[in-house]
Amino acid sequence: MVGKYFGNFAFDALHMQLQRHEDRLANDLRRKFRDAVLVFGDASIGMNKYHAPTPCLGLRDLLQRKGFEILLVDEHLTSSRCPLCKAPIRPFKFRKSPRPWQAANGHQRIVTGLLKCSSRECQAILGGRDRLWNRDLVATMNFLAILNAYRNGQGRPEYLSRRNV
Ligand SMILES: [Zn+2]
Repeated sequence: MVGKYFGNFAFDALHMQLQRHEDRLANDLRRKFRDAVLVFGDASIGMNKYHAPTPCLGLRDLLQRKGFEILLVDEHLTSSRCPLCKAPIRPFKFRKSPRPWQAANGHQRIVTGLLKCSSRECQAILGGRDRLWNRDLVATMNFLAILNAYRNGQGRPEYLSRRNV
């Protein structure tokens, strides 16, 4: 009985702590962005080749419960097109595997968070150098492009559309 009582008590305390965290997150977001529309990439609509599935379903539901307006955007190509010139971008950098036994065997991993645009257009702007992108920034900028295009009544931009592979 003592164990059961303690178990419930521990659960209640944890639950209350979790709720406090949730309230604080919602309040912070509201203070910072007021009535912003929160845009989430929906991995279930389509999986991007270089985008690991993110467990943000819980966060999305939580923020919706807290009264935020949530918009889901199909992630297709949002991490693999340059937001400036619209050309394909891709990871290019390798690093040693973080697992020592694999590193010892010469195993390398591709760095998925860093992408390169080698289009002539971007190279011309940068004096012949490739443009490097942080993947999360790319996705966010492309989400914004999609959102703005929808708001202007143009629909999803062609270079991010599913007609493109
Ligand atoms: Zn580019």
